[in-house]
Amino acid sequence: MPGKNLSREEAQQRADILSVDSYRVHLDVTSAVDPAAATFRSTTTITFRSSAPGTATFVDLLAPAVRSATLNGRALDPGTAFDGARITLDTLAEQNVLVVEADCAYSRTGEGLHRFVDPADGETYLYTHYEPADARRVFATFEQPDLKAPFSFTVTAPAAWDVYHNAAHEEITDQGAARVWRFAPTEPISTYLTAVVAGPYHVERDHYRRRLADGSTLEIPLAATCRRSLAPYFDADEIFTVTKQGLDFFHEEFDFPYPFGKYDQCFVPEYNIGAMENPGCVTFREDFVFRSKVTEAAYEGRANVILHEMAHMWFGDLVTMKWWDDLWLKESFADFMGSFSQIEATRYRSAWITFANKRKAWAYRQDQFPTTHPITADIRDLEDAKLNFDGITYAKGASVLKQLVAYVGRDAFFAGVRQYFKRHAYGNTVLGDLLDVLEQTSGRDLTAWSGAWLQTAGVNSLTPQLTCDAEGRITEFAVVQDGATPRPHRIAIGLYDRDAVGALVRTHRIELDVHGTRTVVPELAGLPRPALVLLNDDDLTYCKIRFDDRSLETLRDGLGEITDGLARALAWSAVWNLTRDGLMPTRDYLALVLRFAGQESGIGVLQSLHQQAKLALDVYADPAWRPEGAQLLAEGALRELRAAAPGSDHQLAWARFLAQTAHEEEQFRLLRGLLAGTARIDGLEVDQDLRWLLWLALAAAGKAGAEELNAELAADNTASGKQHLTECLAALPTAGAKAAAWSAVIDSDELPNALVEAQISGFNQPGRRDLTVGYTERYFALLEEIWSQRSIEIAMRIVGGFFPRYQTDERTLAAADAWLTGHPSAAPALRRLVLECHDDLARALRAQACDRG
Ligand SMILES: [Zn+2]
Repeated sequence: MPGKNLSREEAQQRADILSVDSYRVHLDVTSAVDPAAATFRSTTTITFRSSAPGTATFVDLLAPAVRSATLNGRALDPGTAFDGARITLDTLAEQNVLVVEADCAYSRTGEGLHRFVDPADGETYLYTHYEPADARRVFATFEQPDLKAPFSFTVTAPAAWDVYHNAAHEEITDQGAARVWRFAPTEPISTYLTAVVAGPYHVERDHYRRRLADGSTLEIPLAATCRRSLAPYFDADEIFTVTKQGLDFFHEEFDFPYPFGKYDQCFVPEYNIGAMENPGCVTFREDFVFRSKVTEAAYEGRANVILHEMAHMWFGDLVTMKWWDDLWLKESFADFMGSFSQIEATRYRSAWITFANKRKAWAYRQDQFPTTHPITADIRDLEDAKLNFDGITYAKGASVLKQLVAYVGRDAFFAGVRQYFKRHAYGNTVLGDLLDVLEQTSGRDLTAWSGAWLQTAGVNSLTPQLTCDAEGRITEFAVVQDGATPRPHRIAIGLYDRDAVGALVRTHRIELDVHGTRTVVPELAGLPRPALVLLNDDDLTYCKIRFDDRSLETLRDGLGEITDGLARALAWSAVWNLTRDGLMPTRDYLALVLRFAGQESGIGVLQSLHQQAKLALDVYADPAWRPEGAQLLAEGALRELRAAAPGSDHQLAWARFLAQTAHEEEQFRLLRGLLAGTARIDGLEVDQDLRWLLWLALAAAGKAGAEELNAELAADNTASGKQHLTECLAALPTAGAKAAAWSAVIDSDELPNALVEAQISGFNQPGRRDLTVGYTERYFALLEEIWSQRSIEIAMRIVGGFFPRYQTDERTLAAADAWLTGHPSAAPALRRLVLECHDDLARALRAQACDRG
């Protein structure tokens, strides 16, 4: 569609001549409860000024139909002015009023105004999601972050519904079967941050109160909502506890009162991402409402997301990046603040371990793709922007901020942050605005730091280099830095030895700056050579850690005996990177997991190990050895499941891992017995989500049929049950099941996002590669068509999800190569996705070669 993409230049030109005074938006969603109604009525009035009267510009709107458009009282002909994505505003005046009345579409893809019908009770639920640029699917808008304005929303909805929005409602008027909700004007915010959540949502309320420095009292009404059928599982108390702890923390540190009045947190169905920081109306994926037992890691993860979004109220909502190049300005900060505040203000004290273990793994992976980019990115258009919500913008950016705090100190960092809010409140910023305040408060020149860390892509490796004398004392200790561009790092070095009971404990720690390719550390000369050298101990910087030979030997014999949880997580992360880089045979990595995962106390670390071990077996192991490895993993899972404390998180994690690795008849019999209630593991509750996981294992192995899977849905006729059933049916190892899943996604665009995901996940199972190998050619042939015809959210899932990731052979790599060579002018965002999948595959082949020895 012409004009669907928006370039940085177009946005810049528009911002140069426009300033927006206000939006008035009226949405009539009374039609939502009628499944046959595809659209809702949207009326927008924009009051704006132009510094270039007489010139033309455009307003964005992705809608099936424009009923009328008037500019300064003059009718514009939709037939010529509207192309499906933009309305041309031909002649601007100095003061302008634009009124657009349109029919906008209910969304099935989670982009725009999403409509969902709950299978449990037939109720209809709506919510909006826009970032980066989907407000234009709901109302006419100048869709770019730097044209901020106050928004006044009115929503006409079925009478039995509640409506949530960024601002509080001022008035509700009954109109027969409908009610009209008129909301107060918002503060000046960006278009992508506006939100509407409407439906018969279940709500719980609480209140936050705080004395401010000026003696006044800040009152923030709190609400938390979910679908009615999830209400029995909704632990709003825990959500409010974390919310209040976060509000306390951010008020202490940011010294800028929460600017958006109330604070609603809405858990919504079929949500594409984790959460979205709409001011005063945060939306979350509803998987965070736990209807079955989850581990403490899941509660920690949810608290992290709550705090991440809350940090955005200041970083992102109050102060917003000018354009998507500086997306990191908000995402890196929110990601960093999520973990930082979690440790300082909540009961989740191991957030830095999780950060080292999960977030950094995401960053390291992304940063080694050929498509990696500096943290401050070059975002040419909206498709670029969409793909930039990635491991660099979030996790690497947050890692670099952690390094910055180590570099300038906590006090200077927060002093800078406080100035930044005061100086730029309700405005838009670029990188330089942040560096300005940080340089002021730290007294340091950050030009070199910013150049190395924010404006240069890639990850460095740090390796210890030791020479020792005949008595085993260190004569020289150096840190060697690899990578295209060496960086300045603030790091700690830990030396570890066995204590009296054989545990590996830290005996020395020094902190220093590392520059260039080789840094000699004279302080360590003369010490006895330790059993283990851990560079980047305490995880201050962002790098891949390597080991000297002796340290690696120590890890093979005793990784699990490192007593410190963070040090152990760093060691696990390092051996994972060695495996991914083809420097440690996959079977050696799996041997470490089999030997030491059972004693891993950190539940989040353990669950990551499970994920990584499964991935290692499926794609990094030598295919000839894979059956043996599979057997070892399944036996290990069963052994640890039986050994785990009854009712513990560890027991649940091992049960799930057994379901994912089950390999032999006896193991499948156990899974079936657990489902039937004829087998028991003491303390293990086989609740609904675990049941579906067991069914998936049986289905993928061809040990369960469609009939009994459908029977399980009858017992769990919910949204979640429907997604699980869809995945199980697509996982059945028959040509017919694969064809049906493929066709459901490719031949029709009727499926909602959640079921697209379930179909793809079930289709692409590692167990029966023979059943999907025939789709490789079709996949590459369809890519461009999919990209041009589907919404970007769905297209991204199809391109990433149907890539033949388990066909780890030279033939598939050649097919990916051929597509890339043959399509140099395909959409850059599409090429980026394929390049990344291609790179994953090439990496898998290198790891397999290493594993073959
Ligand atoms: Zn965020």
